Amino acid sequence: MTLLHLRNAQVCAPQPLGTLDLLLGGGKILALESSLPDLPAGLDVETIDLAGRRLIPGLIDGHVHVTGGGGEAGFRSRVPPLAPSRFTRAGVTTAIGLLGTDDTTRGTRGLLAHIHALREEGLSAFGYCGGYHLPPATLTGSVRDDLVFVEALIGIGEVALSDHRSSQPTFEELVKLAADAHVAGLLTGKAGIVHLHLGDGVRGLELVRRALAETELPARVFQPTHVNRRRALFDEALELARNGSPIDLTAFPVAEDEDAWSAADALLRALDAGIDPALVTVSSDAGGSLPCFDADGVVTHMDVGESGALLATLRELLGRGVPLERALPAFTANPARQLRLAGKGRIARGADADLVALDDRGAVDLVIARGAVHVRDGSLQRQGWFEAGRPTD
Ligand SMILES: [Zn+2]
Repeated sequence: MTLLHLRNAQVCAPQPLGTLDLLLGGGKILALESSLPDLPAGLDVETIDLAGRRLIPGLIDGHVHVTGGGGEAGFRSRVPPLAPSRFTRAGVTTAIGLLGTDDTTRGTRGLLAHIHALREEGLSAFGYCGGYHLPPATLTGSVRDDLVFVEALIGIGEVALSDHRSSQPTFEELVKLAADAHVAGLLTGKAGIVHLHLGDGVRGLELVRRALAETELPARVFQPTHVNRRRALFDEALELARNGSPIDLTAFPVAEDEDAWSAADALLRALDAGIDPALVTVSSDAGGSLPCFDADGVVTHMDVGESGALLATLRELLGRGVPLERALPAFTANPARQLRLAGKGRIARGADADLVALDDRGAVDLVIARGAVHVRDGSLQRQGWFEAGRPTD
């Protein structure tokens, strides 16, 4: 087993810990000290001197169409699957895979295969059963059984609300789904959440508000995403967060005159709104289509989301003078806590060795996933099975 000795890392865990040395082995952080002695000869140790560069936990992308999403403009608009370096070069070491609009030609089996492929390539990956529509896509025929018996499945989503692409779920359907997810979470210690895709519809978060008012389900079970896509929807989300609901922001491109907040703007507004900052997360919608529709529901334009949008958002925040320790939890510690991913999202002894070093400009310098180096000096060291120049290891 090769051990990795990182010297002179300015650690943001996400809280600042000063300049430290780290010893990594077996996929874990074995030691974190102000200075580690040289290890005995005979041990297989590689040393990397970070020369004071900032070291942060690997980013957790909580909303990724790992199989490729899309499909809203015909079969040729189905987005291809995402290769592992799309994540690692963006500093993302953990991805949560899910299905979206197309949970018809794509299913939970294919999703799980991609999750396991990413794991084989050295990343950490989990997923949700379901997709936009009800009844939900599952592996076993039951949401509760999927979450209890399939290790990689930790919740259900993205279930679409207030969107013309949804299955127009009723209040009863939504709360029954949430009850199954919640109970599965209790039985397994997994997240057991319903990850909700919010569309542009004016009904917004109405069903979630009702569920919290009329049932015993805890607020943590409902995790709405894309809540920054419309400013009035964002205000609704902040109101829910004041009562303990998690909110997930999407790092999609936002035009100057758009009725939306960029993830950076929305995160700052959320942090200034007096809500518990631990409730806010940012995800990328990587691999998902970003379609624009006309009044007839026909696609006029389509982009594809990228995991790199997370680091771009973080860099934008740093550029605007936000301290790293204030911005970072929404990309690391917060998703780890909400999704109950033990060992993820923080730098500590015993935590998983998922680490990113940033250069002076905030760009990726070094990426380590489960103890293995994927990016070094800003250049890719490992690629996936079908990526060009794959090293034979
Ligand atoms: Zn979505």
